[in-house]
Amino acid sequence: MEEKKLNFLEEIIEKDLAEGKIDSIMTRFPPEPNGYLHLGHAKSICLNFGLAQKYGGKTNLRYDDTNPVKEDVEYVDSIKEDIKWLGFQWDKELYASDYFDQLYQWAEDLIRRGLAYVDDQTQEEIRAGRGTIDTPGTDSPFRNRSVEENLRLFREMRDGKYADGEKVLRAKIDMAHPNMMFRDPLLYRIKHASHHRTGDKWCIYPMYDYTHGQCDSIEHITHSICTLEFDVHRPLYDWFIETLGIYPSHQYEFARLNLTYTLMSKRKLLELVQKQIVSGWDDPRMPTLCGVRRRGYTAEALKMFCDKIGVSKRDQLMDIQLLEWCVRQDLNARSNRYMVVQDPVKVTITNWPEGKVEWFDCPLNPAEPEGATRKVPFTGELLIEKADFMEDAPKKFFRLKPDGEVRLKYTYIIKCNEVIKDAEGNVVELKCTYDPTTRPGGDPSQWRSVKGTIHWVSTAFAKELELRNYDRLFTLADMSQVPEDKDYKDFLNPESLTLAKGYSEPALLEDKSGIAVQFERTGYYFLDKDSTPEHPIFNKTVALKDSYKVE
Ligand code: ATP
Ligand code: MG
Repeated sequence: MEEKKLNFLEEIIEKDLAEGKIDSIMTRFPPEPNGYLHLGHAKSICLNFGLAQKYGGKTNLRYDDTNPVKEDVEYVDSIKEDIKWLGFQWDKELYASDYFDQLYQWAEDLIRRGLAYVDDQTQEEIRAGRGTIDTPGTDSPFRNRSVEENLRLFREMRDGKYADGEKVLRAKIDMAHPNMMFRDPLLYRIKHASHHRTGDKWCIYPMYDYTHGQCDSIEHITHSICTLEFDVHRPLYDWFIETLGIYPSHQYEFARLNLTYTLMSKRKLLELVQKQIVSGWDDPRMPTLCGVRRRGYTAEALKMFCDKIGVSKRDQLMDIQLLEWCVRQDLNARSNRYMVVQDPVKVTITNWPEGKVEWFDCPLNPAEPEGATRKVPFTGELLIEKADFMEDAPKKFFRLKPDGEVRLKYTYIIKCNEVIKDAEGNVVELKCTYDPTTRPGGDPSQWRSVKGTIHWVSTAFAKELELRNYDRLFTLADMSQVPEDKDYKDFLNPESLTLAKGYSEPALLEDKSGIAVQFERTGYYFLDKDSTPEHPIFNKTVALKDSYKVE
């Protein structure tokens, strides 16, 4: 087998291991518990956990919970569920808030060393004072406070003496630094808000840049992998670690995953939920992991997808059809097959003995012809798809037509003898005869074949289903290109959900596979969580076929 080329992260890790810089690797997945995980996170999870697995290392799950206002235990729990569903197990479950005491101590150390100060400027004043890329910033009038004063004020901030926004703690680095990140970055802000873990212990909370690297360092993370937009933060990440003289974790950036017709910003996904544009975080049209799971995407398919797209250092817009292709690949190999008719027309078999039921043993998966089967009942009245019959059919139409023959999948060849219409001229019934010699498994010398095979169900045994057929949630391929004068919600697809009825063979409702099933000739469908035995509901996972080609 051809050896797969190493990606740039694997190259770095192999070099670090070979040079003895590290004994083993340690990665972390650092979600902020302010929403549900989406497909982009799946890429990050596959990368962090996948690399650790490959090189015999470990991965921590660390919640980046430094903003109590937006965070919630609901999200904390869902994130764990999603990671487990993807099939990964973290080493330790940790929280940035576990380190609030340590981070606070380090902040006091920086103050004592003259490397941090309390600033009373407003947010706007601070922003204005930072300057621009071309012009240096200006020093805050509070920049040269004494160590004693800074310590006192910082402790008072901690003790709740000031209101939100009244003061901040900043690092004292260089207001003219070419990297804007170094122009006295904020370390702490005041927020009188209860935290989902630390309760009311703190009313000051550390900023991302002051938190992330130190948390990595405390956990001895060897390779801290994040998305490209953080590359400008890396020098500051290193600065805190070097200045504090702590374990040297290193940050590496890869391109975030963007998908066509898909939005992956938690803020916008939250808006879709709050405005009830979708039914919830797990609406099957959502790109969230709970959404695609409910739709019937499998963890295996997502991992296959992440593996196929690889990691790159350049931003990329991936085709959603590649993901759908992976879902189809996985389900094609594993899913059970059933026949379901969606838009039916009645077929009466006029030469079928009155009241007779014949049960056919049909494979659940044609890839395993000797494998498990389901029993499918054949009777004198059946349903087929309206689209599988055509009155004035062209020559190449090989399904049912007047005086034509077709095979009913797994069973007999039937012939259409008479077309019954209602007053408006709609076809309401097809009177057919079946040929008993065409039963599969019969006398081989009698075997004859016809060009068309169609699916069907017995009316007497059919189970009615609610089908939720999904299409893309957005109509714009590249959702990063929403024009200035428009909102992303202007590109919602009004036909992203259409409801239909289905009539299924009875065995479908006994399916125990736990994954999406294939409705033969139609698509993959997954039992919805709102389903009841009296009212079965199926979500369309993905269509059976697509013209999309994977090189
Ligand atoms: P969002 O912008 O959707 O809110 P985020 O980056 O703020 O995402 P976090 O919870 O902070 O979300 O992300 C946890 C990890 O997942 C981070 O390491 C982040 O880089 C990574 N991640 C988030 N979105 C993507 C994406 N689209 N592709 C790859 N990795 C991602
Ligand atoms: Mg974030």
